[in-house]
Amino acid sequence: MKATNPRTGECDHEFAESTPEDVASVSARLRAMQPEWEARGAAGRGAILCAFADALERHAGAIVAALAIDTGRSAIARVELDTIVRRLRGWSARAAELFAALPGEATQSATPGILIEPRWSAYPLFGAIAPWNFPLLLSHIDAIPALAAGCAALVKPSEVTPRFVAPLSAALAEVPELPLAYVLGGAGTGEALVAHADYVCFTGSTATGRKVALAAAARLIPVNLELGGKDPLIVAASADPVDAARIALRASVVATGQACQSIERVYVARAIAEPFLAELVRAANAVELAWPDPGRGHLGPFIFPAQADKVAAQIADARSQGAQVLAGGEVETLGGGKYLRPTVLTGVTADMAVMRDETFGPVIPVIPFDTIDEAVALANAGEFGLSAAVVAGTVEEAAEIGAQLDAGAISLQDGALTSMVGDATNHSRKGSGLGPSRMGDEGLLRFLRRQALLRQTGAPAPIAAFAEDHRREEHHR
Ligand code: NAD
Repeated sequence: MKATNPRTGECDHEFAESTPEDVASVSARLRAMQPEWEARGAAGRGAILCAFADALERHAGAIVAALAIDTGRSAIARVELDTIVRRLRGWSARAAELFAALPGEATQSATPGILIEPRWSAYPLFGAIAPWNFPLLLSHIDAIPALAAGCAALVKPSEVTPRFVAPLSAALAEVPELPLAYVLGGAGTGEALVAHADYVCFTGSTATGRKVALAAAARLIPVNLELGGKDPLIVAASADPVDAARIALRASVVATGQACQSIERVYVARAIAEPFLAELVRAANAVELAWPDPGRGHLGPFIFPAQADKVAAQIADARSQGAQVLAGGEVETLGGGKYLRPTVLTGVTADMAVMRDETFGPVIPVIPFDTIDEAVALANAGEFGLSAAVVAGTVEEAAEIGAQLDAGAISLQDGALTSMVGDATNHSRKGSGLGPSRMGDEGLLRFLRRQALLRQTGAPAPIAAFAEDHRREEHHR
């Protein structure tokens, strides 16, 4: 397969796609390693996960350099690596606490004579399928707690961003006890992974998530889906319009808007719409592209060139229906990469693609509202329910509005906070996901199955106890 360099637009990287046979043999190897891994206990596994964190730090230069080519970003590439190093250490410590707190004592059943002893065991082979927008972080966000829980882990990063996997594998080779492996490729490799894993976490688009859920259903294995979003921001009349505009801008355009929790729709109270838009446009125009120097500026290129076309099509569609572009609006090709400055749109309506479909670009469509009820109804419309945000005069007022929103995580007096917080247990709603929370303790506990050992301490019932005649009645008497 080939991968495109987002800064040059050139197909400059070739790699071998893992075949279904490769996936089968890697799965068998990991499966064989898993019992010993689980038997090490939380502390034993934690020590090895921390050794992997140390190895990642030793190889940080090469991993970040490759990831920077994959994503066209430099500082964010470093943040991705630092985050997984921190998560490896953090989950190792938390796993020891969680395992120590698991009920292990036998308890008396309500059925006389029976003691119930709980046992916990991990799903043997965990599988992750990741997208291209934060390739390193999203390849590991579920795999780390799965490993800490005692699973072996097979990870398939996106074929759009494959370069970081080779230096990452060099770090992994220094920790041979860790039952973790990577396979590279597209849909076929992902399908093979679902065919072998015992538990799958998928992060990606809603359309692909549906396919993965169906494949998992056919095998009767659990699947967690972390899918697309169309996060709304409500700015109440009591909010400071300048502060709210700055929040809206940052939460919409960081990482060129290629984040699931980006703000993609803004509903602002009509009373403050004018000063809000004035500051939003000013701040949008002050944002700099990270070009030609990837180490300067705010917004890098689109990682996946086709994404730039999709975003441009949404903007063109909105314009053709009467939307006005107050800032940005044109995809620029610079040095072969595709860039978009923060794009502020007004005159948009709820039925336009830019208000309805995921954009995944630095686009901020703004609709004024008259009442909070109207804003809540607009925010709750549509197929997604990932996260949302509210800015108001007080955090209490923001919380009151936020509680009415149909989404898994609500940022109050800020936006897109789930990009900075790892421990906010929440469940994505509607087309944005399925299954337990990846954040908080549930992020690990979901990988454990509870087994009940039923100890008979009395006399086992004779068959007469189940006879279909009066003797049974007598026995019970
Ligand atoms: P995508 O759905 O196109 O691909 C995701 C992964 O699925 C890739 O690794 C791909 O190779 C694989 N895949 C494709 N077809 C498959 C199949 N039939 N079976 C198994 N695997 C298959 O998504 P993308 O374009 O890479 O990523 C962008 C999307 O990810 C956006 O919708 C974004 O919102 C979403 N996302 C969600 C979260 C979240 O936490 N909710 C986080 C980041 C990104």
